[in-house]
Amino acid sequence: MSNQDLLERYKKVMVPNYAPLPAVPIKAKGLKLWDADGKEYLDFTGGIAVTALGHIHDEVLTALKEQAEKLWHVSNYFANEPVIELAEALTSLTFAERCFFANSGSEVNEAALKLARRYAHNKVGEKKNKIIAFHKAFHGRSLFTVTAGGTDAYKQGFGPLPPQLHHSEHNDLEALAKIMDQDCCAVIMEPILGEGGVRNMDGQFAQGVRDLCDQHQALLIFDEVQTGMGRTGELFCYQGLGVTPDILTTAKALGNGFPIGAMMTSSEIANSFQPGTHGSTFGGNPLAAAVAKKTLEIISQPDILAGVRERGQELIQGLNQINEKHPIFTEIRGRGLLVGAQLKEGFTAGDILAKALKQGLLILQAGSDVLRFAPYLLITSAEIQEALGLLESAISEQINESR
Ligand SMILES: *Cc1c(COP(=O)(O)O)cnc(C)c1O
Repeated sequence: MSNQDLLERYKKVMVPNYAPLPAVPIKAKGLKLWDADGKEYLDFTGGIAVTALGHIHDEVLTALKEQAEKLWHVSNYFANEPVIELAEALTSLTFAERCFFANSGSEVNEAALKLARRYAHNKVGEKKNKIIAFHKAFHGRSLFTVTAGGTDAYKQGFGPLPPQLHHSEHNDLEALAKIMDQDCCAVIMEPILGEGGVRNMDGQFAQGVRDLCDQHQALLIFDEVQTGMGRTGELFCYQGLGVTPDILTTAKALGNGFPIGAMMTSSEIANSFQPGTHGSTFGGNPLAAAVAKKTLEIISQPDILAGVRERGQELIQGLNQINEKHPIFTEIRGRGLLVGAQLKEGFTAGDILAKALKQGLLILQAGSDVLRFAPYLLITSAEIQEALGLLESAISEQINESR
């Protein structure tokens, strides 16, 4: 079956909410990926910052196989050993004392927002229910989380939307101060806007938000679904910002491709969820937990995290060099191995993605005018240079065409 044959079948049976690229991946290992026509690619998307250790990492594969021989699923009427070990590891590596597990970023953000409402309800009363999020933010696709998100197009036609979700401007403390009051129960934010264009948050702003939350007894929720699990060169991005949230969520890379998400918090806040208040059939099942535990064990090693910071610098340096030869970016930003390159007006990320694909390089976009790079965290300098070479060819081709 060729790429084309598979895509024709796909179109006939799938809900058309995605527009798959012309390559259909059938196999992958490390940074490499092969499509149904046998073409080889360097994968700088990592399944949107998911396969942080690369495709089919040997030790993670072993963990998966070993657990698959023992126990897959028992439901949350039972405790299980892998989930205890995963929660022990996460709480020892973060501020958190308690964990809740689900299967995706949306679900753990949903849990975080529900927990914040419940906590405020128990502690103060029903009126304290206002949630503040940011324009351009992305928190998921469930109705609650998409309403928290800052992209209106994603909400269109799905109303009525849950009320009392307000939006403020990223990196603008005054704007936030104006809409915060005693009825606010939580502020949710990404330490770097991922989908919203890889936009860094300045440390001063983060501290200011923390202070405002304390002043108004609102919880600070950090959505680290994308920035967590070593992506920015710290295990979690908040650890580099020096600002500690009350609730932390992560998903994407937590299972290196196996679906799992975690919400982490203090025991005092966690106590607002009691048996029956919230749950998930699959959340924290032994198979997912065993895979995540191994993934976390590897990513949290200091030399791995140092490597992410170093390779991130090399990637940014290389992009700057391309930009000197072929001026196409107005800004290159990000942290660790989450890097965004803002395109000059007149260029579209989709066009460059298509050219890169032809060259054998897979990259992401974040909006229509930002290229996003999220390769696996174990990437070597040689692999970065190889990918930069392919990207340069794609870009020079695009520039020549648009002349
Ligand atoms: C991807 C993402 C989500 C949603 O995660 P899903 O697993 O797709 O539900 C939420 N927040 C951020 C910051 C993300 O990048």
